[in-house]
Amino acid sequence: MIGAGIVGASCAWHLCKRGADVTLIDSELPGQSTSFGNAGCISPSSIFPFSYPGAIREVPGWLLDPLGPMKIRWSDALPLAPWFWRFWRAGTARRVAEIAAAQKTMMASVTSDYDEILGETGTESLRQSNGLILLYGSEAEFDEESYHYELRDRYEIPWQRLTRAELEAMEPDVRLGEGIAVLDPAWQHLLAPGDVAGKIAESALGNGCEWLHDRVTRVANSDSGVNAQTESGRTLHGDFLVLATGVWTNDLLVQLGHKVPMMAKRGYHSMLAGPNVNISHPLMQVKEYIVMTPMRDGLRVAGTAEFAKIDAPPDYRRSKVLLRHAQRFLPGLGGSEVSEWMGQRPMMPDSMPVLGPLPGHDRVLCAFGHGHYGLTQGPTTGRIVSDLIYGQQPHVDLTPFSIQRF
Ligand SMILES: Cc1cc2nc3c(=O)[nH]c(=O)nc-3n(C[C@H](O)[C@H](O)[C@H](O)COP(=O)(O)OP(=O)(O)OC[C@H]3O[C@@H](n4cnc5c(N)ncnc54)[C@H](O)[C@@H]3O)c2cc1C
Repeated sequence: MIGAGIVGASCAWHLCKRGADVTLIDSELPGQSTSFGNAGCISPSSIFPFSYPGAIREVPGWLLDPLGPMKIRWSDALPLAPWFWRFWRAGTARRVAEIAAAQKTMMASVTSDYDEILGETGTESLRQSNGLILLYGSEAEFDEESYHYELRDRYEIPWQRLTRAELEAMEPDVRLGEGIAVLDPAWQHLLAPGDVAGKIAESALGNGCEWLHDRVTRVANSDSGVNAQTESGRTLHGDFLVLATGVWTNDLLVQLGHKVPMMAKRGYHSMLAGPNVNISHPLMQVKEYIVMTPMRDGLRVAGTAEFAKIDAPPDYRRSKVLLRHAQRFLPGLGGSEVSEWMGQRPMMPDSMPVLGPLPGHDRVLCAFGHGHYGLTQGPTTGRIVSDLIYGQQPHVDLTPFSIQRF
């Protein structure tokens, strides 16, 4: 198992539970990469792709404002063009319907898959099930989202427009002004997402999993399975190899003759240990594309999207501006103990993960590309991968998630 983020840790956990001999390999400690600093939300209603009819027209604007909610670095714009072409193709009405239908099957079990993994790893206390509140600055801002609300209705995804009094009772520190608030009751959040991934890995280790803190540099088929070589010079042999390597997957995939159109869609967070305000639900500020999540160690403001090369340096102006944006609805937000972070969402142009066997390498399994929803879909992916390795039919039809769609 290469990669010990929420996806790899969950795969290892499910496999060890069934008695498999697993080696979990990562150059970082479990849960400390992208799975550490995200907004912490389990979002089963997120079934729609980021591309939709007309979305591509917004892309040129993303080149202009360096601190806007979406940003493409000029220097990286040309190499990213083929990805945006695929992004555009994923946004036709027909593809949106296909993607939503596929994601709905995957999302149908994320809550129960979390019930199982949190319950059995003793981490249930790190989850809260309060729903999410979406915030819009005005009726006009809300109307701009009408396409998404029509889709929600079509796919029977519950949402409820809150009255001013309801919002005030739920979140007294929020100042809505002339704005609109909407409740999505299905969302849950984790109070420390990195710790949850770490504890899942720890539980797998307690169940016989071996841990290797190393970087895999080479992968290749062998007569009876798959070989992996590490930076420190070790060679490992396994019956199966799972690639749960997030945004770094192409480094290994090319060695097996494949490459996927995956992009690093960066996000940032700023976290305030003593934020001066109290919230009990994650709040999504839709226009600025940020989520404010109450966590164990403070209030986390996470989000924005920056398209850049994997090894480009972080631009921490983007994490600083998050706090300023968050004051739009939380004017009391303040405090000085701030930590900043940047992470890279492994983003496929159609917003769907890549799951299942690698063509030509039946013993290599893909478990990557979860983009915005890796935290949400990690435990479900773990269950699917373990079913595949044990020769059982997964509960989700994997055809739409296959690497062959590219
Ligand atoms: C700002 C932000 C907010 C987000 N909010 C949410 C949210 O609220 N809800 C949600 O569902 N998702 C959210 N996400 C997305 C989510 O964080 C990711 O989809 C998820 O963490 C991906 O998990 P992963 O296990 O695939 O990758 P990672 O956590 O990145 O793990 C991959 C691991 O593979 C290791 N690796 C790679 N190559 C090698 C190699 N050759 N050898 C050894 N190890 C290797 C890496 O070191 C890394 O530890 C957010 C992301 C960002 C950036």
